[in-house]
Amino acid sequence: MRFAERVFALQGESAFDVLSKVQRMERDGRDVVSFAIGEPDFDTPEHIKAAGIRAIEENHTHYTPSAGILPFREAIARYVERTRGIDVSPDEVVVTPGAKPILFCGILCCVNPGDEVLTPSPGFPTYESVIRYAGGVPVPLPFVEEKNFSFDTETFRRLVTPKTRMVLLNFPHNPTGGVASREDLEAVAAIAREKDLWVLSDEIYREMAYEGDVPSIASLPGMKERTIILDGFSKTYAMTGWRLGFAVLPRELAAHVTKLVTNSVSCTAAFVQMAGIAALEGPQDAVRSMVAEYRARRDLLCDALATFPGVVCQKPRGAFYAYANVTEACRRLGVSDSRAFQEKLLEEAGVAVLSRNCFGSRNVGEDQEYVRFCYATSRERIAEGLRRIREFLEK
Ligand code: PLP
Repeated sequence: MRFAERVFALQGESAFDVLSKVQRMERDGRDVVSFAIGEPDFDTPEHIKAAGIRAIEENHTHYTPSAGILPFREAIARYVERTRGIDVSPDEVVVTPGAKPILFCGILCCVNPGDEVLTPSPGFPTYESVIRYAGGVPVPLPFVEEKNFSFDTETFRRLVTPKTRMVLLNFPHNPTGGVASREDLEAVAAIAREKDLWVLSDEIYREMAYEGDVPSIASLPGMKERTIILDGFSKTYAMTGWRLGFAVLPRELAAHVTKLVTNSVSCTAAFVQMAGIAALEGPQDAVRSMVAEYRARRDLLCDALATFPGVVCQKPRGAFYAYANVTEACRRLGVSDSRAFQEKLLEEAGVAVLSRNCFGSRNVGEDQEYVRFCYATSRERIAEGLRRIREFLEK
């Protein structure tokens, strides 16, 4: 069989490989505590489900404009104005089935073969994969423990070359939960303006912030016109399976992205967009209580991990992930790296986490070992997982 070259640039997501292994173990009768997959364990709030059902009954079951229906784009524009403090018009909004297509479309529309894209490292693995698919060159921007899992601005400046075309940011950050300071973002903004760079700002975990607001680079002077804000409903409203996301981006780029949507998926399901309006314009107490619960789980998990032998775990400022340094634990257990740690922990203790290698290529000189815990699971299961991990480490 002959395939186009470009398919070999695409990578899978190792999170899904771990998920199938967990499912296999469960089918074989093992009880596994999973901290692996990054998905809310809550169901979609009732009023959002009701709006989706009503929309089907009212026959919102036809094609829509590719960029999304106007009332939804208006609601998104109001939401982004409210949360980022910038003016947004509905023709600067494109709706997509999930937020992932924004990565695809944004990168395909802005990155030429050979262009360099600075991308968080560790980072959401789709970034590297899509940059390569577009013919671009991913340049890892280390997000480091010493900077509370933001980046060092000097390192950032050093990595920008005449070939740099885009900077990809993600705060709160998957997998570390890190949040950049306004000064860090200002450093990126200054270079982006000077060198005429695009910024793709993945803000999908924006609402899950535990230590105050998360600043958006789009709100800094001269940045809205060069920023693609990626956001969506999967995490905030526990709507992963509905597939609903959006971009806020300059009008001209919005037109190109819309053409990509037309040529690929045509549009996002009409009734799903109606549910999206209910999510944004309806009561927000479900979001508030989910975030409060994530915060309590974060404290439960991180306070305990910090007392475990060989583990160092900062309290993340956002998202629902904790990124624990297990370098010393690996040494004590006699395992070579975090991947071997992940496998041993799953097989021997029945606890699933994701190791560093699930989040893109390692940085030059990176010598610490980390695993990601997703704490979007009940406090009872977290407590059980912690009990097993302590036993595993103290054996
Ligand atoms: N960006 C980040 C950082 C994510 O973690 C995810 C999902 O895990 C996405 C984007 C994609 O979200 P969606 O499921 O809405 O496509």
